[in-house]
Amino acid sequence: MNNSSLVIDGIGASPGISIGKAHVLDRHRIAFPKYNVLGDEAVELECRRFEEAVVKAESDLESIKKTVRSEFMEHAHLLEVQQMILRDRSIYDESLNFIRRDRLNAQLALLKSLAKARQVFSSLNDDYVRSRIADVEAAAERVMRILSGQEQSPLDEIRDRVIVVAHEISPADAIQLEVEHTLGVITEIGGRTSHTSIIARSLNIPAVVAAENATRLITTGEILIIDGTTGKIIINPTEDEIGFYYERQLELENYIKEIGRKAHLSAQTRDGYTISVEANIEMLEEVGGARENGAEAIGLYRTEFFFMNRADMPDEESLFRDYRDLSELMAPSVVTIRTLDLGAEKLSAWYPKLDEVNPVLGLRSIRLCLHYPELFKVQLRAILRASAAAKNIRVMFPLVSGVAELLDAKRIVNGVKEDLERERIPFDENIQIGVMIELPSAVAVADLLATEVDFFSIGTNDLIQYSIGIDRTNEHVAYLFEPLHPAVLRFIKHTVDAGHKAGISVALCGEMAGEPLYLPILLGFGIDSLSMNPQSLPRVKNLIRRSLIKDCRRLAKKALRLSTAREINELLEKTIKKSFPEEFRVFNPSAFAVKGPARSAHRIPQTGTE
Ligand code: PEP
Ligand code: MG
Repeated sequence: MNNSSLVIDGIGASPGISIGKAHVLDRHRIAFPKYNVLGDEAVELECRRFEEAVVKAESDLESIKKTVRSEFMEHAHLLEVQQMILRDRSIYDESLNFIRRDRLNAQLALLKSLAKARQVFSSLNDDYVRSRIADVEAAAERVMRILSGQEQSPLDEIRDRVIVVAHEISPADAIQLEVEHTLGVITEIGGRTSHTSIIARSLNIPAVVAAENATRLITTGEILIIDGTTGKIIINPTEDEIGFYYERQLELENYIKEIGRKAHLSAQTRDGYTISVEANIEMLEEVGGARENGAEAIGLYRTEFFFMNRADMPDEESLFRDYRDLSELMAPSVVTIRTLDLGAEKLSAWYPKLDEVNPVLGLRSIRLCLHYPELFKVQLRAILRASAAAKNIRVMFPLVSGVAELLDAKRIVNGVKEDLERERIPFDENIQIGVMIELPSAVAVADLLATEVDFFSIGTNDLIQYSIGIDRTNEHVAYLFEPLHPAVLRFIKHTVDAGHKAGISVALCGEMAGEPLYLPILLGFGIDSLSMNPQSLPRVKNLIRRSLIKDCRRLAKKALRLSTAREINELLEKTIKKSFPEEFRVFNPSAFAVKGPARSAHRIPQTGTE
């Protein structure tokens, strides 16, 4: 019996359990000859061979664009980014230079220009450009395969149903993932909001991202178990582990089917307390899934994703169409459009380049919009115009630090309203305006902010980051990202109380909203609505329907008296285990995992394999 399993911990990016064989994507495995081209005529022929390969790569990308599933059309422009890269000077002109000047064959010339581009990219002080290196590599690889007569992409090679393991899956590859061939996805980098994660969630493929050294620790053909909820990967599992996870997988599938059937019932506790359960979306294509999963409204539309991954800033008309379509799809339910939250880790090509040492504390989000009012106005005009028909749109400002900033933003909204009135363009005159509570300073002045807005929405992802002083994307301090830190809980409670005192509703739209462990305490605090990733909706609604608000209130009071996150966590785990044993079991399989010797030792990564 195999008893040498290994465990890697990553970030659970798309829930579910997969058990199957690994297929490690190796981007550096294309074999090709390296030689010098002799004679001027041969050099020109080699240049032509390179140019033709680029033309072929362009037309291949064009064909892929036509086969992109309709739900991913929004991502099709990612293929255009690759097409643009193919003609970029650093790849195209440089390769031709290497052929002409150094008389290198086309593949070697391309390899050299790629190495040069990689060096230039990584030395640039521009996170956006650095983040594009995956696209440059993928574009160059396509040409390299054509030149070397190995046109199959590593994804095409996949015949069996496998768990795809890669350093990174380029956005263009991600939209080609075939559900029939993909049991699961593991990447070494990325976060919950990277494109791979978003696409894996839409396809219901379990995924784990940020699994360090996965491509070195895992070999093609090895059996893997991945748990897309907890982010756990087991390499070469024991028979006991396979048996255990098969059972969990079945249990999970049956449970998801069962709660899915009840997703449309309202979220009312057994003692008659109702809250609104809503969806967070990044793109329009998610609306169908959100509705199917029982979303009662869109509590957060992260509009910046529409602005990212494109060469130019979108114009007012395309924004208007996007917001109008969303409003129509959801009417009469409410749609909360958050204004641009660009900056920090969310970057775009046309975005004003800022040389910031610490972008998370920099000119991001509402600060950026106030700094570039012309950009802000384009988005506000589009939102206001889209609000005219169904009158179900609300506007929400992210990362507001205090009243002055809020008043500045409101002044710009009023200016845009006046412009529209003058131009006789209709909009919803009573459009509601809200702020996200994501900064400790906003919590401190929540009473003052509450008198100026129609609603609050607590963004716990950022609120935790800024309260505890840790970068939410930094794996070295991830252990400090504690949603149950007493300071965070007090901030949430304080915000709810301040909002209610002023008579406005208080929502919560950070990842905490979709995590059952936190549900009793959030209900107990009196949150009016929870907005979460669409996959979590049926589960959270089901748990609300099985809760008693009076128990939640008692629990919340008790938790607020404890002094550490660990104690609060223990209290909540005990409560959840007792009140909802099946849910705890199916969604937290790792907590029930078969006991054995410590298995989390990592294999020593090998070096120099590239
Ligand atoms: C948050 O910060 O909690 C939030 C919902 O916004 P985002 O994750 O987009 O920053
Ligand atoms: Mg935020």
